[in-house]
Amino acid sequence: MLELKNVNKSYLEGNIKHTVLSNLNLHVSNGEIIILFGKSGSGKSTLLNIISGIDVPDNGSVLIDGTDITTLSEKERTLVRRNKVGFIFQFFNLIPTLTVKENLLLPLELTGTNNTEERINSILSEVGLANRAITYPDKLSGGEQQRIAIARALVHNPHIILADEPTGNLDYETGLQIIDLLDRVVKKKEKTMIMVTHSKDVIGLADKIYSLKEGRLKEVKKESVFE
Ligand code: ADP
Ligand code: MG
Repeated sequence: MLELKNVNKSYLEGNIKHTVLSNLNLHVSNGEIIILFGKSGSGKSTLLNIISGIDVPDNGSVLIDGTDITTLSEKERTLVRRNKVGFIFQFFNLIPTLTVKENLLLPLELTGTNNTEERINSILSEVGLANRAITYPDKLSGGEQQRIAIARALVHNPHIILADEPTGNLDYETGLQIIDLLDRVVKKKEKTMIMVTHSKDVIGLADKIYSLKEGRLKEVKKESVFE
């Protein structure tokens, strides 16, 4: 379970306070898939960073499985993030000097997970790239790199997946394939997912859709997304 209560976040630009999130509330049940729309600069990445504990709110609470991560030390928050959250980025963020397999080994080593070989082979099969384990990321297409990044987000079995514009750097067709893959693996593994996107092709997989505007979330009905 994931819950945000009265979360505020602002940045100072010189002397001017710029409010990004304003008394924001969110409740996500286990296994729910949330789609988050919002204009550029509306605070979507800030929100995901706060949920993952990369960033901290000015005040308010962020409860992950009942623990308010805003009360933890940075070290403790890092441990929660490593174990419970998998992150998928717009620009994939694979480590270029490591092979596919070595990229996937990192989250497993950081969380002290066993059966690394088995887990890597299994997740690579699930994303359809079982034969690319010893390839370097720059030898892969954008779509393939994002498949590996999805594998990396899932390999250590975190229960929350955060995806920040995962199709934003891909052509339309490849984007659809990535959405299809996320739909399949995230639902099969019963993960909770929050996906930030500008693509209306994702609404089929959403349990709930929110729009972030003026620092707050507003639920959007599926029917009205196309209005
Ligand atoms: P989005 O992902 O919706 O495009 P962001 O969360 O990246 O928006 O940014 C929201 C606002 O907060 C923007 O105006 C951005 O300039 C500002 N912002 C984000 N991070 C920082 C930071 N570390 N320092 C100052 N301002 C920031
Ligand atoms: Mg962003």
